Amino acid sequence: MDFGTSGCRVSLIDERGVQKFETSVKYTDTREANNKTSSSSSSMTAIWEDALWTSLENIPRETRERIVSVAIDGTSGTVIIVHPESGEPLYKAMMYNEKFEVGAQYLASESCRVPDGHVTRSSTSALSKLAHYFANEHPKPISYKLLHHADWLSYKLHENMGVSDFNNSLKLGFDPGSETYPQWMLDLPFAEALPKTMLPPGARIGVVQNPRAKEFLSNPECIVCTGTTDSVAAFIASGANEPGDACTSLGSTLAWKLISEARVDDASVGIYSHKIGDQYWLVGGACNTGGNILRAFFTNDELQSLTDTIEMENMFELNLFGVRDADFFKSNAGGDFGLEVSDAVKKCESERETCENDAVFLCKIFSSIAKAEKRCYDNANAMGASEKLKKVYTSGGGAANATWCKMRSSCLSIDNKSGSTIDVVASEYTEASYGTALLAKKGYHSR
Ligand code: ADP
Repeated sequence: MDFGTSGCRVSLIDERGVQKFETSVKYTDTREANNKTSSSSSSMTAIWEDALWTSLENIPRETRERIVSVAIDGTSGTVIIVHPESGEPLYKAMMYNEKFEVGAQYLASESCRVPDGHVTRSSTSALSKLAHYFANEHPKPISYKLLHHADWLSYKLHENMGVSDFNNSLKLGFDPGSETYPQWMLDLPFAEALPKTMLPPGARIGVVQNPRAKEFLSNPECIVCTGTTDSVAAFIASGANEPGDACTSLGSTLAWKLISEARVDDASVGIYSHKIGDQYWLVGGACNTGGNILRAFFTNDELQSLTDTIEMENMFELNLFGVRDADFFKSNAGGDFGLEVSDAVKKCESERETCENDAVFLCKIFSSIAKAEKRCYDNANAMGASEKLKKVYTSGGGAANATWCKMRSSCLSIDNKSGSTIDVVASEYTEASYGTALLAKKGYHSR
């Protein structure tokens, strides 16, 4: 099950990993939900819980009875503060993109000993959210626990308090290398609230316990396994599985991930590594400037019909890989540090006037995004990601564009040390829910 920003999607797969059933539920109106207290039936947590039960109910009964393992992914960095016994939310859900400056300031105080440049220093980090609750909202006599979005929803099934996974916990400060919290975290005055049981993604937590959940997951041996974040789940779904395989998500933003033998972390440019499997790292980052620029100028239909008029040779005649374009996405080393979207759109507007037609203009945007993508992978490599890029899977709206994929392949292959062409392909499965179903399968077989 994937709990994204706008809805929940379920993928059911069989023993061989073939998807047999899919269903999705859009969240009811969430515009005001995050201003509601946790006890309100229109709060974010209530909306998520509704989507959980509704989507399980949507699965035909005879299929539901055969489910043997479930895992859930959620948006990374979204956290919920809950009562340690009942699991009931004590505060509004703190969303992945919400900034909690008070919490970040608290963590910046000398007594906390958070290392400079550490991922948790960001005001959107899960730890800043916990510090915010401690410093601002916490009624002192009550104890509380932090759960990530995915943890809380799977808690609704297994009812073991304080279980999380290595991927969701990265922004909390957990170190997947040593598989422990750093000592400075354990010394924080609210350390008691941290998840106690930390497992790799796709590990067995326990059988379904909650009576409501048992109504839908009626197989008494059905287990719940740890999930991951929504973006790692989408990566797992893509089919990428060995060092040098990567996946670029060309949705509104450009997010990239590369399987590497070495871990690469640099919060100053937004590059960080998730642990994947027993021995590899998933090095990745994101840019502001992806499909949202295309959307500022073209509808999806226009994009496709204009693309059909583009000749690959023309792209090269346009010298799109020239120096002139090189600073278009300046400093897009992989973090949210590139041009602001509005600036990039302004830049495109002035560029449009110099183009003889819209097809040429579109080529320029395509090639500029391709170059930003190349820079992301080149940087990861320069920073020590051990494997050279071999194959790039693609998800998101841009994956449908085969011409753009070809162009990206040419761009990514420039100066490729191995001399071979880097294949750019659309991912077979693009839904995060499918990747999370693979984790549920892994957990089932680890018994
Ligand atoms: P989101 O991140 O918003 O979920 P999607 O994964 O749905 O985004 O991708 C939407 C993006 O894909 C849009 O910005 C759109 O411009 C782009 N897109 C859609 N169709 C095409 C196409 N045929 N070629 C290139 N880009 C496309």
